[in-house]
Amino acid sequence: PAIVSLKGISKTFANGTVALNNLSLDVREGEFVSLLGPSGCGKSTALRIIAGLIEPTSGRVGWPQEEASQAEHELGFVFQEPTLMPWATVFSNVWLPLRLKGISKKSARERVMEALETVGLAPFAASYPRELSGGMKMRVSIARALVTRPRVLLMDEPFAALDEITRFKLNNDLLHLWETFGWTVIFVTHSVFESVYLSNRIVVMAARPGRIVSDSAIDAPYPRG
Ligand code: ADP
Ligand code: ADP
Repeated sequence: PAIVSLKGISKTFANGTVALNNLSLDVREGEFVSLLGPSGCGKSTALRIIAGLIEPTSGRVGWPQEEASQAEHELGFVFQEPTLMPWATVFSNVWLPLRLKGISKKSARERVMEALETVGLAPFAASYPRELSGGMKMRVSIARALVTRPRVLLMDEPFAALDEITRFKLNNDLLHLWETFGWTVIFVTHSVFESVYLSNRIVVMAARPGRIVSDSAIDAPYPRG
C-alpha cells in the first residue's frame, strides 16, 4: 500500500511559471525513491508539496495510512544546505524539532543522543556547528530530521554542496541506515550516479512543464551499504 500518494498535482507560481503539470505518484512503504531530472524540472517543488511547505495549485497529497493531522509528524526533511543554528550546540540543533513540540531538553535527551549516534556524531553533542566539517554538519541535519522518528524521509539534493569524497561516504552511510531502519526515502537529485547507487526506484522528471517521463524499479547489481 502507498504511504504517500500524489494525485494530479499541478503548480503554477505567482509569476506564471508552471513548475508541475498533473503529476501523480504513489510511494510505497520502505521504498528508496529517487526523483531525478535536470535543474528546474520541478523536483524540489514536488518535494515541498509532499512536505506541506507549499500548496499545490490543484491536485492533492494523500497519506492513505494516516490521519491527515498525524502525517506531518511522520516526515523528516533534509535540505541541501545544513541550515543549522550557529549559536546553538549540536545537541540543541537536533533537539529543535522536539522542542517545537514542547518536549523539554531533559525528556528529549535520550532521543537526541540516539539520533546523533545513528549518524556517528554522539561525541560532538556539545560542539558548535562552526567546529564541524561540511560532512559532519550535513550529518547533524540528518540527525535533526530523524529525531522525530519519521516514517518518511524527504531529502532535497542533500549532499550537493559537499566535495565528492564526503558525498560518497555519506551516500554509503545513508544506504546503510536505510537498510538497517527500513525508512521510506524520497531523494531529489540530478545525479544519475546517486540515483542508481542509492535507490530501488527511479522516477525521472522532465522540465516544461514538470512531469514524470519514466518510473522504473531497479535492482542494484552490486553489494550495497
Ligand atoms: P528542480 O528542483 O527540479 O531544480 P524546482 O522545483 O526548484 O526545480 O523549480 C521548478 C520550476 O519552478 C523552475 O522553473 C523554477 O525556476 C520555478 N520556481 C521554483 N520556485 C519558484 C518560486 N517560488 N517562484 C517562481 N518560480 C519558481
Ligand atoms: P568533510 O570531508 O566534509 O570535511 P567528513 O565527515 O569526511 O567531512 O569529516 C572530516 C573529518 O572530520 C574526519 O577526517 C574526522 O577527522 C572528523 N570526523 C568526522 N566525523 C567524525 C566522527 N564521527 N568522529 C570523529 N571525527 C569525525
